[in-house]
Amino acid sequence: MRRILVTNDDGIHSRGIAVLAQAMSKVGEVYVVAPDREMSGISHALTLAQPLRIEKLKERWYSVTGTPTDSVYVGVVKIMEEEVDLVVSGINAGANLGEDVHYSGTVAGAVEGSIFKVPAIAFSQIPNLDVDLSEASDFATKIAGAVLENEIGSQKLLNVNFPPPPARGIRLTRLGYHPYERTVEENKDPRGNLYYWIGGKAVHYEQNPEADTQAIREGFISVTPLQLDLTHGQALRSLKKWELFGGT
Ligand code: MN
Repeated sequence: MRRILVTNDDGIHSRGIAVLAQAMSKVGEVYVVAPDREMSGISHALTLAQPLRIEKLKERWYSVTGTPTDSVYVGVVKIMEEEVDLVVSGINAGANLGEDVHYSGTVAGAVEGSIFKVPAIAFSQIPNLDVDLSEASDFATKIAGAVLENEIGSQKLLNVNFPPPPARGIRLTRLGYHPYERTVEENKDPRGNLYYWIGGKAVHYEQNPEADTQAIREGFISVTPLQLDLTHGQALRSLKKWELFGGT
């Protein structure tokens, strides 16, 4: 029996993780290990300066007082004792397109699996989880089965985004450009002290036939293979020509 670790960044009580755990139960034995509260936008943070508490909520379901990355870490090493065939993260409430992947706790959960050399997939539903998730659930089961059958290789993962259902099909994509309004809202708290709230709405979806942003705009399920190695090969070659680095 394949052993699958399920996490997410919306917390162990989110609807998305329940749907994903159910979808994974069709292809393997499921362990759910996830933050005890919402951790969206936490990226790949690890909790190193304070202890983690793990609570067993029911058979093979554990909440962790930490991040998605902490959850995968303790899930793989402690709870599943390194016997893991697949790590999945999601289904996130909202997009993880383009540069969203750098902020995303959902994608980070899958990245952590990949760092442990376990195949990994991140799932996100647009615009949120208040839609029919049956299509996302069916596709999650299918792609998990396919990843377990085929070798995607280490240091890689798949980033899956679902458009508002029904989807027109599936598209293999690359990361597009998905900037947001950069807002800092200033307000006063009940004690009269100023506080600030950052983050605005998405203002642009790159229109490029290869981009994940375009696939979603056109109503397709987007599947983007990601790599952990962020080295820019072309820049490496051109920097070697700089005098500073011994070039001529
Ligand atoms: Mn989230």
